[in-house]
Amino acid sequence: MRDETARLMAPAGFATIFQGSSPTTATPKAAFDTAFSVRLKGACHTAATLRLDSAGNLDPFAPSTVRLAATRTSGRSVLPVAEVECDTILSALRSVPLKRRSRIFGYALGRVIAHELYHLLLQSTGHGSNGLARAVVSWSELLSDSLQFDAGDLHRLLHTTRR
Ligand SMILES: [Zn+2]
Repeated sequence: MRDETARLMAPAGFATIFQGSSPTTATPKAAFDTAFSVRLKGACHTAATLRLDSAGNLDPFAPSTVRLAATRTSGRSVLPVAEVECDTILSALRSVPLKRRSRIFGYALGRVIAHELYHLLLQSTGHGSNGLARAVVSWSELLSDSLQFDAGDLHRLLHTTRR
């Protein structure tokens, strides 16, 4: 997850550092140019992916659109907080062979977090028309190695004032 977010944000000129929420491991906020809180909701670890194996028959590629993450807003401002729906992402991975699932889950989380960083850094709930910044991404795209920000969105990120 961390590596994938870092890979996707690097072309936009951002180095990403994840830190836990535990006060004992927290790096002082002043050490960062910009800091956001990303809350991973639900089951966000490999044990949970294993547990999902015996759960129901949810079709991972069901046509309905599901929300994988969201930024919080107050009025017209985007707050520095994003929430990622781990359970929903995990449900899509039932089609992924068990051996590869943990790794693919990390990629998917990393991509969803990079999408949220796009909103947080640009202070916008708007979306791009191509690539990772689109409002709707299919499961197969989310799980594909080729998903990344398109040139226009990278340009916007490179020139955001929040850096
Ligand atoms: Zn979005």
